[in-house]
Amino acid sequence: MTMRAIGFLLCGMLATTAAMAADVTVVTAAKVHTMDAARPHAQAFAFDDRGAIVAVGNRDDLLSRYPDATRIDAGDATVVPGLIDAHGHVSGLGLALLQVDLVGTRSREEVLQRLRDFARELPEGAWLVGRGWDQNDWPEQRFPTAVDLDAAFPDRPVWLSRIDGHAGWANSAAMRAVERDLSGDWQPDGGKILRDEAGKPTGVFVDAAMAMLDAAVPALDEATLTRALELGMQAAVEHGLTGVHDAGVSLAELRRYQALADRGAMPLRIHAMADGDGKALAWLCDSGLYRHPSGRLQMRAVKLYIDGALGSRGAALIADYSDDPGNRGLLMAEPAAFASIVDKAKQCGVQVGTHAIGDNGNRIVLDTYAAALGNAGADRRWRIEHAQVLAPDDLPRLAALGVIASMQPTHATSDMPWAEERLGPERIVGSYAWRQLRDSGARLALGSDFPVESVDPRLGLYSATTRADAEGLPAGGWRPEELLTSFEALRGFTLDAAYAGFAEKEIGSLEVGKRADFVVLGQDPLAIPPAQLRSLEVRATYVDGQPVFAKP
Ligand SMILES: [Zn+2]
Repeated sequence: MTMRAIGFLLCGMLATTAAMAADVTVVTAAKVHTMDAARPHAQAFAFDDRGAIVAVGNRDDLLSRYPDATRIDAGDATVVPGLIDAHGHVSGLGLALLQVDLVGTRSREEVLQRLRDFARELPEGAWLVGRGWDQNDWPEQRFPTAVDLDAAFPDRPVWLSRIDGHAGWANSAAMRAVERDLSGDWQPDGGKILRDEAGKPTGVFVDAAMAMLDAAVPALDEATLTRALELGMQAAVEHGLTGVHDAGVSLAELRRYQALADRGAMPLRIHAMADGDGKALAWLCDSGLYRHPSGRLQMRAVKLYIDGALGSRGAALIADYSDDPGNRGLLMAEPAAFASIVDKAKQCGVQVGTHAIGDNGNRIVLDTYAAALGNAGADRRWRIEHAQVLAPDDLPRLAALGVIASMQPTHATSDMPWAEERLGPERIVGSYAWRQLRDSGARLALGSDFPVESVDPRLGLYSATTRADAEGLPAGGWRPEELLTSFEALRGFTLDAAYAGFAEKEIGSLEVGKRADFVVLGQDPLAIPPAQLRSLEVRATYVDGQPVFAKP
Protein backbone atom coordinates (compact mmCIF):
# COMPACT_ATOMS: atom_id res chain seq x y z
CA MET A 1 0.00 0.00 0.00
CA THR A 2 1.41 3.42 -0.94
CA MET A 3 1.57 6.36 1.47
CA ARG A 4 -1.00 8.09 -0.64
CA ALA A 5 -3.42 5.19 -0.26
CA ILE A 6 -2.86 5.12 3.51
CA GLY A 7 -3.52 8.86 3.62
CA PHE A 8 -6.83 8.31 1.85
CA LEU A 9 -7.71 5.50 4.22
CA LEU A 10 -7.04 7.69 7.29
CA CYS A 11 -9.02 10.55 5.84
CA GLY A 12 -11.81 8.15 5.11
CA MET A 13 -11.84 6.89 8.70
CA LEU A 14 -11.80 10.41 10.11
CA ALA A 15 -14.63 11.38 7.82
CA THR A 16 -16.66 8.39 8.96
CA THR A 17 -16.14 9.24 12.64
CA ALA A 18 -17.08 12.85 11.98
CA ALA A 19 -20.17 11.73 10.09
CA MET A 20 -21.34 9.80 13.11
CA ALA A 21 -20.93 12.82 15.33
CA ALA A 22 -21.89 15.81 13.24
CA ASP A 23 -22.73 15.13 9.63
CA VAL A 24 -26.24 14.08 10.36
CA THR A 25 -29.17 16.32 9.56
CA VAL A 26 -32.36 16.09 11.57
CA VAL A 27 -35.56 17.32 9.93
CA THR A 28 -38.40 18.25 12.27
CA ALA A 29 -41.91 19.22 11.21
CA ALA A 30 -45.42 19.39 12.60
CA LYS A 31 -46.15 16.17 10.73
CA VAL A 32 -44.22 13.73 8.61
CA HIS A 33 -46.28 11.39 6.45
CA THR A 34 -43.76 8.68 5.67
CA MET A 35 -45.93 6.51 3.36
CA ASP A 36 -44.26 3.61 5.21
CA ALA A 37 -47.07 1.29 6.32
CA ALA A 38 -45.02 0.16 9.34
CA ARG A 39 -44.70 3.74 10.63
CA PRO A 40 -47.02 6.09 8.75
CA HIS A 41 -46.59 9.16 10.97
CA ALA A 42 -43.60 10.84 12.61
CA GLN A 43 -42.40 14.31 13.55
CA ALA A 44 -38.76 13.90 12.58
CA PHE A 45 -36.23 11.96 10.57
CA ALA A 46 -32.47 12.06 10.22
CA PHE A 47 -30.21 11.53 7.23
CA ASP A 48 -26.44 11.23 6.87
CA ASP A 49 -24.03 13.27 4.76
CA ARG A 50 -24.66 10.98 1.78
CA GLY A 51 -28.38 11.61 1.89
CA ALA A 52 -29.39 8.23 3.35
CA ILE A 53 -32.10 8.21 6.01
CA VAL A 54 -30.69 6.84 9.30
CA ALA A 55 -33.65 7.32 11.64
CA VAL A 56 -37.37 8.16 11.59
CA GLY A 57 -39.38 8.94 14.68
CA ASN A 58 -40.15 11.19 17.54
CA ARG A 59 -38.71 14.72 17.53
CA ASP A 60 -37.20 14.66 21.05
CA ASP A 61 -35.70 11.19 20.59
CA LEU A 62 -33.95 12.17 17.39
CA LEU A 63 -32.70 15.50 18.69
CA SER A 64 -31.21 13.81 21.77
CA ARG A 65 -29.77 10.96 19.73
CA TYR A 66 -28.03 13.42 17.38
CA PRO A 67 -27.22 16.44 19.60
CA ASP A 68 -24.66 17.89 17.14
CA ALA A 69 -26.80 17.37 14.07
CA THR A 70 -27.52 20.06 11.55
CA ARG A 71 -31.20 20.92 11.87
CA ILE A 72 -33.87 21.63 9.34
CA ASP A 73 -36.78 22.91 11.37
CA ALA A 74 -39.80 22.90 9.10
CA GLY A 75 -41.93 24.45 11.85
CA ASP A 76 -45.66 24.06 11.26
CA ALA A 77 -45.12 22.39 7.88
CA THR A 78 -45.94 18.86 6.78
CA VAL A 79 -43.24 16.75 5.15
CA VAL A 80 -44.05 14.03 2.64
CA PRO A 81 -41.82 11.87 0.43
CA GLY A 82 -40.69 13.56 -2.77
CA LEU A 83 -43.40 13.40 -5.41
CA ILE A 84 -42.76 11.32 -8.52
CA ASP A 85 -44.51 11.96 -11.82
CA ALA A 86 -44.79 8.51 -13.41
CA HIS A 87 -45.35 9.87 -16.92
CA GLY A 88 -44.00 13.16 -18.23
CA HIS A 89 -41.90 14.53 -21.06
CA VAL A 90 -39.05 16.63 -19.72
CA SER A 91 -37.64 17.97 -22.98
CA GLY A 92 -41.21 18.54 -24.22
CA LEU A 93 -41.83 20.69 -21.16
CA GLY A 94 -38.52 22.52 -21.60
CA LEU A 95 -39.16 23.11 -25.30
CA ALA A 96 -42.69 24.25 -24.50
CA LEU A 97 -41.11 26.84 -22.22
CA LEU A 98 -39.10 27.93 -25.27
CA GLN A 99 -42.19 28.06 -27.56
CA VAL A 100 -45.49 29.92 -27.81
CA ASP A 101 -47.77 28.61 -25.09
CA LEU A 102 -51.34 28.32 -26.38
CA VAL A 103 -52.74 26.42 -23.39
CA GLY A 104 -55.99 27.93 -22.16
CA THR A 105 -56.73 29.99 -25.28
CA ARG A 106 -60.47 30.56 -25.55
CA SER A 107 -60.70 31.46 -29.25
CA ARG A 108 -58.74 31.55 -32.51
CA GLU A 109 -58.43 35.32 -32.03
CA GLU A 110 -56.68 34.77 -28.72
CA VAL A 111 -54.32 32.29 -30.41
CA LEU A 112 -53.46 34.90 -33.05
CA GLN A 113 -52.84 37.53 -30.38
CA ARG A 114 -50.36 35.29 -28.53
CA LEU A 115 -48.64 34.40 -31.81
CA ARG A 116 -48.24 38.05 -32.80
CA ASP A 117 -46.80 38.91 -29.37
CA PHE A 118 -44.30 36.04 -29.52
CA ALA A 119 -43.29 36.69 -33.14
CA ARG A 120 -42.05 40.18 -32.27
CA GLU A 121 -38.99 38.56 -30.65
CA LEU A 122 -38.30 36.20 -33.56
CA PRO A 123 -35.85 36.79 -36.41
CA GLU A 124 -37.42 37.31 -39.84
CA GLY A 125 -38.31 34.03 -41.57
CA ALA A 126 -37.79 31.93 -38.42
CA TRP A 127 -40.44 29.29 -37.76
CA LEU A 128 -43.07 30.21 -35.24
CA VAL A 129 -43.63 27.00 -33.27
CA GLY A 130 -46.16 26.60 -30.53
CA ARG A 131 -48.29 24.12 -28.70
CA GLY A 132 -51.34 23.72 -26.52
CA TRP A 133 -54.41 24.77 -28.55
CA ASP A 134 -57.66 22.89 -28.06
CA GLN A 135 -60.60 23.59 -30.35
CA ASN A 136 -62.91 22.14 -27.71
CA ASP A 137 -62.24 25.30 -25.67
CA TRP A 138 -63.33 27.61 -28.52
CA PRO A 139 -66.86 28.82 -29.22
CA GLU A 140 -67.17 27.03 -32.60
CA GLN A 141 -65.41 23.79 -31.44
CA ARG A 142 -64.22 22.85 -34.91
CA PHE A 143 -60.69 22.33 -36.19
CA PRO A 144 -58.95 25.53 -37.31
CA THR A 145 -57.45 25.97 -40.80
CA ALA A 146 -54.34 27.39 -42.43
CA VAL A 147 -56.40 30.34 -43.66
CA ASP A 148 -56.91 31.42 -40.04
CA LEU A 149 -53.15 32.01 -39.82
CA ASP A 150 -52.24 33.14 -43.33
CA ALA A 151 -53.37 36.79 -43.12
CA ALA A 152 -51.22 37.43 -40.04
CA PHE A 153 -48.32 35.23 -41.20
CA PRO A 154 -48.15 35.10 -45.02
CA ASP A 155 -44.42 34.26 -45.17
CA ARG A 156 -43.34 33.05 -41.75
CA PRO A 157 -43.99 29.29 -41.29
CA VAL A 158 -46.29 28.58 -38.35
CA TRP A 159 -46.68 25.07 -36.83
CA LEU A 160 -48.80 24.59 -33.72
CA SER A 161 -49.42 21.27 -32.02
CA ARG A 162 -52.65 20.51 -30.27
CA ILE A 163 -52.84 20.17 -26.47
CA ASP A 164 -52.64 16.35 -26.67
CA GLY A 165 -49.75 16.33 -29.16
CA HIS A 166 -51.82 14.18 -31.54
CA ALA A 167 -52.71 16.86 -34.09
CA GLY A 168 -50.99 19.92 -35.50
CA TRP A 169 -52.11 23.11 -37.24
CA ALA A 170 -49.96 24.62 -39.98
CA ASN A 171 -50.22 27.77 -42.07
CA SER A 172 -49.63 27.77 -45.83
CA ALA A 173 -45.98 28.83 -45.51
CA ALA A 174 -45.30 25.81 -43.28
CA MET A 175 -47.10 23.46 -45.70
CA ARG A 176 -45.01 24.85 -48.58
CA ALA A 177 -41.89 23.81 -46.65
CA VAL A 178 -42.97 20.15 -46.54
CA GLU A 179 -40.85 18.05 -48.85
CA ARG A 180 -43.61 15.77 -50.08
CA ASP A 181 -46.33 17.10 -52.43
CA LEU A 182 -49.41 17.39 -50.24
CA SER A 183 -51.87 17.61 -53.13
CA GLY A 184 -53.97 14.63 -54.22
CA ASP A 185 -56.07 12.39 -52.03
CA TRP A 186 -53.39 10.20 -50.41
CA GLN A 187 -53.02 9.68 -46.65
CA PRO A 188 -49.95 8.61 -44.67
CA ASP A 189 -49.93 5.34 -42.64
CA GLY A 190 -51.12 5.88 -39.09
CA GLY A 191 -52.15 9.47 -39.69
CA LYS A 192 -54.48 11.80 -41.51
CA ILE A 193 -54.21 14.96 -43.56
CA LEU A 194 -57.47 16.85 -43.20
CA ARG A 195 -58.66 17.93 -46.69
CA ASP A 196 -61.46 20.19 -47.92
CA GLU A 197 -64.05 19.15 -50.54
CA ALA A 198 -61.55 20.04 -53.30
CA GLY A 199 -58.92 17.77 -51.70
CA LYS A 200 -56.73 20.64 -50.56
CA PRO A 201 -55.09 20.19 -47.11
CA THR A 202 -56.92 22.37 -44.58
CA GLY A 203 -53.84 22.79 -42.39
CA VAL A 204 -54.61 20.17 -39.73
CA PHE A 205 -52.44 17.04 -39.58
CA VAL A 206 -53.33 14.14 -37.26
CA ASP A 207 -50.94 11.65 -35.61
CA ALA A 208 -48.34 10.22 -38.04
CA ALA A 209 -49.15 12.97 -40.59
CA MET A 210 -47.56 15.47 -38.20
CA ALA A 211 -44.10 14.00 -38.88
CA MET A 212 -43.95 15.71 -42.31
CA LEU A 213 -44.28 19.13 -40.69
CA ASP A 214 -41.99 18.25 -37.79
CA ALA A 215 -39.35 17.23 -40.34
CA ALA A 216 -39.64 20.61 -42.09
CA VAL A 217 -38.89 22.57 -38.90
CA PRO A 218 -35.17 23.47 -38.78
CA ALA A 219 -33.31 21.25 -36.29
CA LEU A 220 -32.59 22.55 -32.80
CA ASP A 221 -28.94 22.67 -31.79
CA GLU A 222 -27.43 20.62 -28.93
CA ALA A 223 -27.19 23.58 -26.57
CA THR A 224 -30.91 24.34 -26.98
CA LEU A 225 -31.84 20.70 -26.43
CA THR A 226 -29.77 20.50 -23.25
CA ARG A 227 -31.27 23.81 -22.13
CA ALA A 228 -34.72 22.28 -22.62
CA LEU A 229 -33.87 19.39 -20.26
CA GLU A 230 -32.57 21.83 -17.65
CA LEU A 231 -35.68 24.01 -17.90
CA GLY A 232 -37.98 21.00 -17.71
CA MET A 233 -36.25 19.54 -14.65
CA GLN A 234 -36.14 22.92 -12.93
CA ALA A 235 -39.89 23.41 -13.45
CA ALA A 236 -40.45 19.92 -11.98
CA VAL A 237 -38.56 20.49 -8.71
CA GLU A 238 -40.24 23.87 -8.27
CA HIS A 239 -43.52 21.95 -8.03
CA GLY A 240 -42.33 19.40 -5.48
CA LEU A 241 -41.27 16.65 -7.85
CA THR A 242 -38.13 14.67 -6.98
CA GLY A 243 -38.55 12.14 -9.78
CA VAL A 244 -39.97 11.87 -13.28
CA HIS A 245 -40.51 8.89 -15.54
CA ASP A 246 -39.59 10.41 -18.89
CA ALA A 247 -41.83 8.61 -21.38
CA GLY A 248 -39.82 8.47 -24.59
CA VAL A 249 -36.09 9.29 -24.51
CA SER A 250 -33.87 8.87 -27.58
CA LEU A 251 -30.29 7.69 -27.27
CA ALA A 252 -29.10 11.21 -28.14
CA GLU A 253 -31.26 12.59 -25.35
CA LEU A 254 -29.96 9.99 -22.90
CA ARG A 255 -26.44 11.22 -23.77
CA ARG A 256 -27.53 14.77 -22.88
CA TYR A 257 -28.90 13.55 -19.56
CA GLN A 258 -25.69 11.59 -18.91
CA ALA A 259 -23.60 14.71 -19.51
CA LEU A 260 -25.76 16.61 -17.03
CA ALA A 261 -25.54 13.76 -14.49
CA ASP A 262 -21.74 13.61 -14.92
CA ARG A 263 -21.44 17.24 -13.92
CA GLY A 264 -23.89 16.95 -11.03
CA ALA A 265 -26.52 19.03 -12.81
CA MET A 266 -29.54 16.73 -12.40
CA PRO A 267 -31.77 18.22 -9.69
CA LEU A 268 -34.02 15.15 -9.59
CA ARG A 269 -34.21 11.48 -10.62
CA ILE A 270 -35.10 10.46 -14.15
CA HIS A 271 -36.41 7.00 -15.05
CA ALA A 272 -35.90 7.29 -18.79
CA MET A 273 -38.01 5.12 -21.08
CA ALA A 274 -36.41 4.43 -24.46
CA ASP A 275 -38.34 5.90 -27.39
CA GLY A 276 -39.78 2.86 -29.12
CA ASP A 277 -37.90 0.30 -31.18
CA GLY A 278 -34.96 2.59 -31.93
CA LYS A 279 -31.32 3.16 -31.08
CA ALA A 280 -31.90 3.49 -27.34
CA LEU A 281 -33.61 0.09 -27.10
CA ALA A 282 -30.87 -1.46 -29.24
CA TRP A 283 -28.28 0.04 -26.90
CA LEU A 284 -30.06 -1.39 -23.85
CA CYS A 285 -30.14 -4.79 -25.51
CA ASP A 286 -26.41 -4.58 -26.34
CA SER A 287 -25.08 -3.05 -23.13
CA GLY A 288 -27.64 -4.00 -20.49
CA LEU A 289 -29.89 -1.95 -18.26
CA TYR A 290 -28.36 1.44 -17.45
CA ARG A 291 -27.95 3.32 -14.18
CA HIS A 292 -25.78 6.41 -13.56
CA PRO A 293 -23.59 6.10 -10.42
CA SER A 294 -25.25 9.22 -8.96
CA GLY A 295 -28.59 7.39 -8.80
CA ARG A 296 -30.18 10.32 -10.63
CA LEU A 297 -30.59 8.64 -14.01
CA GLN A 298 -31.56 5.19 -15.22
CA MET A 299 -32.79 3.62 -18.44
CA ARG A 300 -34.27 0.14 -18.25
CA ALA A 301 -37.66 0.62 -19.92
CA VAL A 302 -39.11 1.22 -23.36
CA LYS A 303 -42.13 3.32 -24.26
CA LEU A 304 -44.29 1.99 -27.10
CA TYR A 305 -47.50 3.20 -28.74
CA ILE A 306 -50.53 1.23 -29.81
CA ASP A 307 -52.97 4.03 -30.67
CA GLY A 308 -53.61 7.79 -30.67
CA ALA A 309 -55.63 10.05 -28.39
CA LEU A 310 -59.32 10.54 -27.72
CA GLY A 311 -59.41 14.30 -28.35
CA SER A 312 -58.41 13.91 -32.02
CA ARG A 313 -60.37 10.62 -32.36
CA GLY A 314 -57.11 8.72 -32.83
CA ALA A 315 -57.73 6.34 -29.91
CA ALA A 316 -58.53 2.84 -31.26
CA LEU A 317 -62.02 1.76 -30.22
CA ILE A 318 -63.68 -1.65 -30.52
CA ALA A 319 -66.87 -0.01 -31.87
CA ASP A 320 -67.46 3.31 -33.67
CA TYR A 321 -66.99 6.66 -31.98
CA SER A 322 -70.38 7.64 -30.58
CA ASP A 323 -70.06 11.10 -32.19
CA ASP A 324 -68.46 9.95 -35.47
CA PRO A 325 -70.13 6.88 -36.99
CA GLY A 326 -67.77 4.77 -39.09
CA ASN A 327 -64.68 5.97 -37.25
CA ARG A 328 -62.92 3.58 -34.84
CA GLY A 329 -59.70 5.52 -34.51
CA LEU A 330 -56.18 4.57 -35.52
CA LEU A 331 -53.70 1.87 -34.56
CA MET A 332 -50.18 3.28 -34.49
CA ALA A 333 -48.71 -0.23 -34.82
CA GLU A 334 -49.94 -3.48 -36.33
CA PRO A 335 -50.56 -5.99 -33.53
CA ALA A 336 -48.02 -8.48 -34.94
CA ALA A 337 -45.30 -5.83 -35.28
CA PHE A 338 -46.10 -4.58 -31.79
CA ALA A 339 -45.83 -8.12 -30.39
CA SER A 340 -42.41 -8.62 -31.92
CA ILE A 341 -41.06 -5.44 -30.28
CA VAL A 342 -42.56 -6.53 -26.96
CA ASP A 343 -40.82 -9.90 -27.32
CA LYS A 344 -37.54 -8.19 -28.09
CA ALA A 345 -37.85 -6.04 -24.95
CA LYS A 346 -38.65 -9.15 -22.92
CA GLN A 347 -35.52 -10.94 -24.21
CA CYS A 348 -33.46 -7.92 -23.17
CA GLY A 349 -35.05 -7.71 -19.70
CA VAL A 350 -36.45 -4.28 -20.53
CA GLN A 351 -39.62 -2.99 -18.87
CA VAL A 352 -42.39 -2.21 -21.37
CA GLY A 353 -44.76 0.75 -21.03
CA THR A 354 -47.28 1.14 -23.84
CA HIS A 355 -49.46 4.13 -24.60
CA ALA A 356 -53.02 2.80 -24.90
CA ILE A 357 -56.10 5.04 -24.82
CA GLY A 358 -58.98 3.30 -26.60
CA ASP A 359 -60.59 0.04 -25.48
CA ASN A 360 -59.27 -1.70 -28.60
CA GLY A 361 -55.77 -0.34 -28.02
CA ASN A 362 -55.85 -1.47 -24.39
CA ARG A 363 -57.16 -4.93 -25.33
CA ILE A 364 -54.41 -5.48 -27.93
CA VAL A 365 -51.80 -4.45 -25.35
CA LEU A 366 -53.24 -6.77 -22.70
CA ASP A 367 -53.46 -9.68 -25.17
CA THR A 368 -49.86 -9.06 -26.26
CA TYR A 369 -48.57 -8.73 -22.71
CA ALA A 370 -50.45 -11.87 -21.63
CA ALA A 371 -48.91 -13.87 -24.47
CA ALA A 372 -45.41 -12.58 -23.70
CA LEU A 373 -45.56 -12.75 -19.92
CA GLY A 374 -47.23 -16.10 -19.40
CA ASN A 375 -47.69 -16.58 -15.67
CA ALA A 376 -44.58 -14.70 -14.56
CA GLY A 377 -45.83 -11.17 -15.13
CA ALA A 378 -45.64 -9.62 -11.69
CA ASP A 379 -41.95 -8.85 -11.36
CA ARG A 380 -41.52 -7.48 -14.86
CA ARG A 381 -43.69 -4.51 -13.92
CA TRP A 382 -44.92 -3.84 -17.43
CA ARG A 383 -47.16 -0.86 -17.68
CA ILE A 384 -50.00 0.58 -19.68
CA GLU A 385 -49.55 4.31 -20.10
CA HIS A 386 -52.92 6.13 -19.75
CA ALA A 387 -55.16 2.98 -19.70
CA GLN A 388 -57.93 5.43 -20.40
CA VAL A 389 -60.82 3.48 -21.92
CA LEU A 390 -61.11 -0.19 -21.00
CA ALA A 391 -63.83 -2.68 -21.86
CA PRO A 392 -65.32 -3.76 -18.50
CA ASP A 393 -64.07 -7.35 -19.02
CA ASP A 394 -60.53 -6.07 -19.44
CA LEU A 395 -60.36 -4.03 -16.21
CA PRO A 396 -59.37 -7.00 -13.94
CA ARG A 397 -56.74 -8.22 -16.38
CA LEU A 398 -54.15 -5.63 -15.30
CA ALA A 399 -54.04 -6.94 -11.74
CA ALA A 400 -54.10 -10.55 -12.94
CA LEU A 401 -51.04 -9.92 -15.14
CA GLY A 402 -49.22 -7.68 -12.64
CA VAL A 403 -49.50 -4.84 -15.16
CA ILE A 404 -49.23 -1.33 -13.71
CA ALA A 405 -51.85 1.28 -14.63
CA SER A 406 -49.83 4.44 -15.28
CA MET A 407 -52.61 7.04 -15.22
CA GLN A 408 -52.97 10.82 -15.22
CA PRO A 409 -55.81 12.19 -13.09
CA THR A 410 -55.83 15.55 -14.89
CA HIS A 411 -56.60 13.82 -18.20
CA ALA A 412 -60.00 12.87 -16.77
CA THR A 413 -60.85 16.39 -15.66
CA SER A 414 -59.62 17.87 -18.96
CA ASP A 415 -61.58 15.35 -21.02
CA MET A 416 -64.78 15.20 -18.93
CA PRO A 417 -66.65 17.93 -20.87
CA TRP A 418 -66.61 15.86 -24.10
CA ALA A 419 -65.45 12.31 -23.26
CA GLU A 420 -68.95 10.88 -23.00
CA GLU A 421 -69.92 12.37 -26.39
CA ARG A 422 -67.03 10.44 -27.95
CA LEU A 423 -67.68 7.21 -26.01
CA GLY A 424 -71.37 7.03 -25.12
CA PRO A 425 -72.93 6.03 -21.80
CA GLU A 426 -71.77 2.39 -21.79
CA ARG A 427 -68.10 2.79 -22.64
CA ILE A 428 -67.71 5.71 -20.24
CA VAL A 429 -68.16 3.25 -17.35
CA GLY A 430 -64.76 1.65 -18.04
CA SER A 431 -63.04 4.97 -18.68
CA TYR A 432 -60.74 6.91 -16.32
CA ALA A 433 -61.61 4.07 -13.94
CA TRP A 434 -59.03 4.61 -11.19
CA ARG A 435 -61.23 3.24 -8.42
CA GLN A 436 -62.25 0.09 -10.31
CA LEU A 437 -58.64 -0.58 -11.31
CA ARG A 438 -57.28 0.02 -7.81
CA ASP A 439 -59.98 -2.10 -6.19
CA SER A 440 -59.27 -4.91 -8.66
CA GLY A 441 -55.74 -5.02 -7.24
CA ALA A 442 -53.88 -3.11 -9.96
CA ARG A 443 -51.17 -0.72 -8.90
CA LEU A 444 -51.82 2.90 -9.89
CA ALA A 445 -48.72 4.95 -10.74
CA LEU A 446 -49.92 8.51 -11.14
CA GLY A 447 -48.53 11.29 -13.27
CA SER A 448 -49.47 14.22 -15.45
CA ASP A 449 -48.21 13.55 -19.00
CA PHE A 450 -46.70 17.06 -18.88
CA PRO A 451 -46.56 19.17 -21.03
CA VAL A 452 -49.91 17.80 -22.25
CA GLU A 453 -51.14 18.74 -18.78
CA SER A 454 -49.46 20.96 -16.21
CA VAL A 455 -46.32 19.62 -14.52
CA ASP A 456 -47.86 20.66 -11.18
CA PRO A 457 -48.63 17.47 -9.18
CA ARG A 458 -50.99 19.40 -6.90
CA LEU A 459 -53.41 19.49 -9.82
CA GLY A 460 -53.13 15.72 -10.13
CA LEU A 461 -53.83 15.23 -6.42
CA TYR A 462 -56.79 17.60 -6.73
CA SER A 463 -58.23 15.91 -9.84
CA ALA A 464 -57.78 12.45 -8.36
CA THR A 465 -59.72 13.35 -5.22
CA THR A 466 -62.39 15.68 -6.66
CA ARG A 467 -62.84 14.79 -10.36
CA ALA A 468 -63.79 18.45 -10.69
CA ASP A 469 -62.48 21.38 -12.69
CA ALA A 470 -60.68 24.41 -11.23
CA GLU A 471 -64.04 25.90 -10.21
CA GLY A 472 -65.05 22.71 -8.38
CA LEU A 473 -67.56 21.67 -11.04
CA PRO A 474 -69.44 19.47 -11.43
CA ALA A 475 -70.35 19.59 -7.74
CA GLY A 476 -69.49 16.27 -6.12
CA GLY A 477 -67.26 15.33 -9.07
CA TRP A 478 -67.67 13.79 -12.49
CA ARG A 479 -68.59 10.10 -12.07
CA PRO A 480 -67.61 10.29 -8.38
CA GLU A 481 -67.67 6.50 -8.01
CA GLU A 482 -64.09 6.62 -9.39
CA LEU A 483 -62.74 9.14 -6.82
CA LEU A 484 -59.54 8.33 -4.95
CA THR A 485 -58.86 9.31 -1.34
CA SER A 486 -56.08 11.84 -0.62
CA PHE A 487 -53.96 9.01 0.78
CA GLU A 488 -54.47 6.85 -2.32
CA ALA A 489 -53.63 9.77 -4.60
CA LEU A 490 -50.49 10.60 -2.62
CA ARG A 491 -49.46 6.97 -2.72
CA GLY A 492 -49.87 6.98 -6.50
CA PHE A 493 -47.49 9.95 -6.73
CA THR A 494 -44.94 8.44 -4.30
CA LEU A 495 -44.55 4.76 -3.41
CA ASP A 496 -46.45 3.26 -6.32
CA ALA A 497 -44.75 5.55 -8.83
CA ALA A 498 -41.42 4.48 -7.28
CA TYR A 499 -42.45 0.83 -7.72
CA ALA A 500 -43.31 1.48 -11.37
CA GLY A 501 -39.70 2.68 -11.79
CA PHE A 502 -38.13 -0.28 -9.87
CA ALA A 503 -37.09 2.17 -7.16
CA GLU A 504 -39.35 1.43 -4.18
CA LYS A 505 -36.38 0.13 -2.14
CA GLU A 506 -34.69 3.54 -2.46
CA ILE A 507 -37.43 6.15 -2.70
CA GLY A 508 -41.19 6.63 -2.46
CA SER A 509 -41.36 6.60 1.35
CA LEU A 510 -39.34 8.00 4.22
CA GLU A 511 -37.78 5.05 6.04
CA VAL A 512 -34.36 4.00 7.26
CA GLY A 513 -32.03 3.10 4.41
CA LYS A 514 -33.93 5.06 1.78
CA ARG A 515 -32.87 8.34 0.17
CA ALA A 516 -33.80 11.64 1.78
CA ASP A 517 -36.05 12.83 -1.06
CA PHE A 518 -38.81 14.93 0.46
CA VAL A 519 -41.10 17.93 0.08
CA VAL A 520 -41.96 20.54 2.69
CA LEU A 521 -45.63 21.56 2.39
CA GLY A 522 -47.42 24.49 4.02
CA GLN A 523 -50.50 22.36 4.73
CA ASP A 524 -51.18 18.70 5.48
CA PRO A 525 -52.44 17.16 2.21
CA LEU A 526 -54.11 14.30 4.11
CA ALA A 527 -55.98 16.61 6.51
CA ILE A 528 -57.21 19.49 4.34
CA PRO A 529 -60.34 19.07 2.20
CA PRO A 530 -59.45 17.75 -1.28
CA ALA A 531 -60.78 20.99 -2.79
CA GLN A 532 -57.77 22.77 -1.23
CA LEU A 533 -55.14 20.41 -2.64
CA ARG A 534 -54.63 22.55 -5.75
CA SER A 535 -53.45 25.44 -3.59
CA LEU A 536 -51.10 23.45 -1.33
CA GLU A 537 -47.99 25.48 -0.66
CA VAL A 538 -44.74 23.80 -1.78
CA ARG A 539 -42.11 25.40 0.47
CA ALA A 540 -39.06 23.33 -0.44
CA THR A 541 -37.94 20.25 -2.35
CA TYR A 542 -34.99 18.05 -1.29
CA VAL A 543 -33.25 15.29 -3.21
CA ASP A 544 -30.60 13.13 -1.47
CA GLY A 545 -30.96 15.52 1.49
CA GLN A 546 -29.93 18.53 -0.62
CA PRO A 547 -32.29 21.44 -1.30
CA VAL A 548 -33.11 21.65 -5.01
CA PHE A 549 -35.88 24.22 -4.58
CA ALA A 550 -36.80 26.63 -1.82
CA LYS A 551 -39.71 29.05 -2.07
CA PRO A 552 -38.28 32.57 -2.19
ZN1 LIG B 1 -47.02 10.99 -22.76
